[in-house]
This record gives sequence, C-alpha cells and structure tokens, in this order.
Amino acid sequence: MEQAEIGIFGGSGFYSLLDNVHEVAVHTPYGAPSDKLAVAEIAGRKVAFLPRHGKNHQLPPHMINYRANLWAMKELGVTRIIGPCAAGSLQADVKPGDFVVVDQFVNRTWGRNDTFFDGPITTHMSAAEPYCSELRRLAIACAKRQGITVHEQGTVVVIQGPRFSTKAESREYSKNGWEVINMTQYPEGWLARELGICYVNIALITDYDVGLEGHPEIQPVSHQEVLKVFNDNNERLRNLLFAMIEEIPPVKHCECKSDLF
Ligand SMILES: [Zn+2]
Repeated sequence: MEQAEIGIFGGSGFYSLLDNVHEVAVHTPYGAPSDKLAVAEIAGRKVAFLPRHGKNHQLPPHMINYRANLWAMKELGVTRIIGPCAAGSLQADVKPGDFVVVDQFVNRTWGRNDTFFDGPITTHMSAAEPYCSELRRLAIACAKRQGITVHEQGTVVVIQGPRFSTKAESREYSKNGWEVINMTQYPEGWLARELGICYVNIALITDYDVGLEGHPEIQPVSHQEVLKVFNDNNERLRNLLFAMIEEIPPVKHCECKSDLF
C-alpha cells in the first residue's frame, strides 16, 4: 500500500492543485474513513490528505467517523498530522482572518466514538497537553514568517453541532476565557494522541460565533459567511502548510506517545 509520513485533514482545495496524486482507499477495523486518502509528494515528503467532511462535504461534524480517519492515517504510516479547521472566535481580540494554534480543548460533544481503548486494554492516558509541542512551535514560527496574525495559545471548545450556539451558550464559553469554538477538533486531535501520532491544529477564525456582547454591529455567524472567509483564507493556509511540511524535522523531539503503540 502507498505510504505517507505526514497527514493533513482539510478541504479538497489543497490537493486539487497538486500533480501526481494517488488516491488510496483504506479499510479500517472501525469502518470507512470520510473518503479516499490522496497521497502526494511535497518538498520531498510523502503527504496524505483526507477531507474530514468527505470530498463533497457530505458528512456533518457529528457523523464523521473520526476513529476510521485516524486509523487510516496510521495504516499509511503517518506519524505527524496537521489538522486545520474553520472556527469561530469567542474573544474580541481574536479576529476573523486570524489563525490560532490552540493548545487546549474543552469537549462539549456527546455520543461520538472518542477512544481506541474500548477494552480489553484499560488505560487512562494523560490529556494535560493534548497537542504536539514541536509541531505547535513550527506552525507559529512559519505563520509569523509569512506575516499571518497568529495567536500562539488558545482553548477551543468543541460543540456537537450541527447547529450553531445560542447566545447563552456562547456567553458561557466567552466568560470561561475560551478563545475558539469549533465542531470537529474533538475527538480528531485526541485520537491522534491515542495512536501516538503528533497532532497540531490551526484554527482559521471565520466569524464571531453569535456576535459579541457590547458590539451590536457584529452579527451572528452564518454558514455562507464562514465559507467565504474560509475560502479567502485558503491560499494563506496552503502556503503555511507547505512551509511546515518542508520543515517538520524527520526525527521527533516531543512527548507525544501512546499507551498502545
Ligand atoms: Zn509530537
């Protein structure tokens, strides 16, 4: 089977521009991933792309088979994953167009298959630092060099969706000091850790969730608005990803490891 070293979860916008893409259908013990994986070479590195919502964006966040997506990456030999996503801002200083390299998540999803440890192995892995420190540093450095406004820390609260938040829900998240809101970061990032794969998220801020208190001119998020800002961001994101791929050290210098592998 085709092998890859680096994995990227993202939209089809990235690999549609690459030459010599090999599509690979991967079967996993957890069912089918969101789509075929597209393997291509960038800067001499083998990279596997998987659109987490499927190629035709047919899978809403709560219907994504996260375990199959992560397992498929592992099957191909991937040891590092970059997982960019569109996200809302919960704080005034985190503005649409900014990128956030989050360092913590809060899980407010339910009913998702969010572990590979369903028995007979019983273990309790530390989630104190759920994101890869080495890939986070690299993402921040590359973003700064490219003139992107990047926030070096941030907490993402992951909601179940597919609906957006009520004002009361959003107020709670903002008051807790959390910066970013999204529907897919959990369990995607965490499942990577369970497999011992390094994972970094880059949150592309598209909107202010339900608006901002004290700022009546800021309107609640709409799906169209999210898509527009996300598309505007695509080129900046692609440049950032290519720079990161080139610079990911061949040998890990981080603490990411699994109890399983
Ligand atoms: Zn790591």
